Amino acid sequence: MAEDLRDFIRHRIRDDLRTAAVERVVTRFPPEPNGFLHIGHAKSICLNFGVAQEFGGTTYLRYDDTNPLRESDEFVEAIQRDIDWLGFDWEGPTFASDYFEQLYEFAEQLIERGKAFVCSLPADEIRATRGTLTDPGTDSPYRDRTVAENLDLFRRMRAGEFPDGSHVLRARIDMASPNVNMRDPVIYRIRHATHHRTGDAWCIYPMYDFTHCICDALEGISHSLCTLEFEDHRPLYDWVLDNIAINYHPPQIEFSRLSLEYTVMSKRLFSALVDDGHVMGWDDPRMPTLAGMRRRGYPAGAIREFCRRIGVTKSDGTVEYEFLEFCVRRDLAAAAPRAMAVLDPLRVVLTNYESDGETLAAPWHPQQPERGSRDMAFSKTLYIERDDFSENPPSKYRRLVPGGMVRLRYGYIIVCEDVVKNISGEVEELRCRYVPASKSGNDTSGLKPKGVIHWVEAESAVAADVRLFERLFTDPRPGSADFADTLNPDSMRVARAMVEPAVVASDDACFQFERTGYFVKDNRDYRPGAAVFNRTVSLRDSYRPETR
Ligand code: ATP
Ligand code: MG
Repeated sequence: MAEDLRDFIRHRIRDDLRTAAVERVVTRFPPEPNGFLHIGHAKSICLNFGVAQEFGGTTYLRYDDTNPLRESDEFVEAIQRDIDWLGFDWEGPTFASDYFEQLYEFAEQLIERGKAFVCSLPADEIRATRGTLTDPGTDSPYRDRTVAENLDLFRRMRAGEFPDGSHVLRARIDMASPNVNMRDPVIYRIRHATHHRTGDAWCIYPMYDFTHCICDALEGISHSLCTLEFEDHRPLYDWVLDNIAINYHPPQIEFSRLSLEYTVMSKRLFSALVDDGHVMGWDDPRMPTLAGMRRRGYPAGAIREFCRRIGVTKSDGTVEYEFLEFCVRRDLAAAAPRAMAVLDPLRVVLTNYESDGETLAAPWHPQQPERGSRDMAFSKTLYIERDDFSENPPSKYRRLVPGGMVRLRYGYIIVCEDVVKNISGEVEELRCRYVPASKSGNDTSGLKPKGVIHWVEAESAVAADVRLFERLFTDPRPGSADFADTLNPDSMRVARAMVEPAVVASDDACFQFERTGYFVKDNRDYRPGAAVFNRTVSLRDSYRPETR
């Protein structure tokens, strides 16, 4: 057995197997199908699936679908796509709704044991009588209904005799408990709504705290891993299982949530961004959803590596966005083929170049010669990046200036002889001379230009829309209440670029455009005749992880 003991959960599992407290590791990933998964979920997925893999166990994908108003098959499918993309296989999927009948029977059991009662207070009364962190709550006037009365009411709730909100089923625990979650929590409510799987079969739905522990027990989950905010719910998790006739009781173990700078981590808030049209959809490349990151070009392996490196602890913290980008760059630096694209094209005419049909060999990956090369067309008319030319260069500028020279990557040295401007004084074209004896790999010119720039050949280049992204939020910690106010209005800009044709001809999706960053063909909008790229991440790599 491969034992990877990098965190307290893996230590605990190893010990449980060694002492035979657990025979086989069974975990679950339990999303509510009310939105797309985000990078926070990836942490939970990598943990749950990761430990099961490492210790020879299995992981259920279980949908926590107990709120029919918010859930849909669209989200069920999207979640499966994302977990599959991350590279994990699940048991199931199962659904909390698969267990509705059993959950109902356990609820009747609690009633029969005097451990649950039907409460007919309105919701705001229930809230008002719950007490506070310092004051105990007060007993519901319905708390001492007889078992027979409770059973009768609960069955009539199920039968649909009452409107939404008229009654709830509450666990009968202790209104004076120091833990607010234990103050007679609601475990069933009436909701006349069509459920995405059970349709109209039910009009009462169980609450999360009642449902989750029972599903864990029924599926034989060996370690129920959840985020720290559920620590205060653990006594209720245990109470439910201790008070029903069930012979198995999984342990709940909590770990810290992932928070990431410059974003919020909540399906509810993403859903608002989508509905209000702030983004192109759940899979907008600026969204921290897994579908968004996939579309942005983040490799699944980079996300797994990110989750591995941030680790699993008991203390909440916010991870710098640069750390995620560092992992993405690291992955793409090895994986992505290199190519040339000019994001802001400036035409260059080589006045002394006449030969026709010349091509220049350019390696797909200079550090990996086994990946071969492609031939780049070369001709009299080229494009270079507009900011690779300057009439008023800052000091240490190593690119092209009037009268200066520069090397074209994999090509020749050129010397700028003339600057052509339009009537508004903008530079429209550079007229340059190329140095025939300076061909890359066979340079006998003896010239030593300071800079090397990228370029594309004008005739063969393909025009493309290239989306350049900035952070979606301007605030490193956008609040959840006013998050819309901190949206960055300039988070996307579209450049009309010229791209080397081999990129379009290739089946690869991800490329490093030399000197400009990593880019991916957009998985929705890219067409052979209408190329659309997303910038995954720039090349700038000032970030140095010190502690990870
Ligand atoms: P949201 O508020 O975005 O809907 P959630 O916690 O309600 O998030 P669920 O679908 O209920 O989302 O979560 C499924 C699992 O993913 C849970 O076990 C939850 O603890 C875990 N999870 C959700 N967000 C994070 C996060 N930021 N970091 C780590 N795990 C997370
Ligand atoms: Mg939720």
